[in-house]
Amino acid sequence: MTCPDLPNIPPGTVLNLNSEDWYHPDEATGDSLHDIVMVVEKVHSDGATATAVSVWVTGHGIACGWPTSDTHPPCIELRVRVEAIRRAVTETAGTDG
Ligand SMILES: [Zn+2]
Repeated sequence: MTCPDLPNIPPGTVLNLNSEDWYHPDEATGDSLHDIVMVVEKVHSDGATATAVSVWVTGHGIACGWPTSDTHPPCIELRVRVEAIRRAVTETAGTDG
């Protein structure tokens, strides 16, 4: 398999993304850059190459209440830097003890 060396991201993981950590290929406008806090539904690392610097991530805004609210299709779909995902997991692990 060729895929980025990514940690396992369980659904429900919260990603704090700076404007530099993510982008959307279909919305390549400069004024859309802002910070996003999202709850991961799935990290699509299976379709990425080993040298990929970003992967598709689907999930939900922190405000929509998923998964405690009604189940619904992901309201956020964007490319997130692999680096940012690793960082998020490290931060989560660091607060666990
Ligand atoms: Zn949602």
